[in-house]
Amino acid sequence: MNIVILGSQGSGKGTQAKLLAEKYGLTQIETGKLLRDIAETDHPWGKRIKSMMLKGVLVSDKILMAVLKQTLAKPAGNGRIFDGTPRNLPQYELIKNILKSRGEKLDRVIMLKVSEAEAVKRISARRICKNCGRIYNLITDPPPGDFKCECKGELVQREDDYPDVIKKRLKAFNKSTLEVAKRALREGILLEIDGERPVEEIFREIVSWIN
Ligand code: AMP
Repeated sequence: MNIVILGSQGSGKGTQAKLLAEKYGLTQIETGKLLRDIAETDHPWGKRIKSMMLKGVLVSDKILMAVLKQTLAKPAGNGRIFDGTPRNLPQYELIKNILKSRGEKLDRVIMLKVSEAEAVKRISARRICKNCGRIYNLITDPPPGDFKCECKGELVQREDDYPDVIKKRLKAFNKSTLEVAKRALREGILLEIDGERPVEEIFREIVSWIN
């Protein structure tokens, strides 16, 4: 089974993607993380990726597509959950084409909806572990008492999680990701969900729709 989860930054899509990956044995494909990992290396694209991410704008489709092709060439157990891609129609079509060439298909698209004010509030409270990449939220998913990760790594605010950059990222999301949702709706594979509810309630609704 292959699932796409769409939602603005701070919509809770990462949390739902992780829960779905665990429940159905799916490989989580998180393009933000894949790109951040490359940006930290001396890969020829590293500097360019880092600068785009810091500006809060999308990395070029050329780079993203190369990263996706490489990632999708690996075996993926029961399937994949795409978190952070597609961000526009070319990425959506690319994912469907690669899956088709492997005799698979995109089964479901989930769209988590939250207001801009709620998204900014949630993202500002987000902290990431420098060591293992685990993400906490100071309001909804706080770290253990000593303000360190479970793995004892240091928790920091992501460089692109500051208000100015967040607003740009939300704009980039609205512009092109909504077109993907519209297309998935036409294809009859879209579930739109109100993301301003408890995590467990949203998860239950997604699971009952999938089943
Ligand atoms: P995210 O962690 O999904 O919020 O992504 C962080 C940043 O990585 C974004 O602001 C973009 O610069 C870049 N990025 C992540 N996924 C994509 C994508 N599918 N296409 C283009 N850029 C992306």
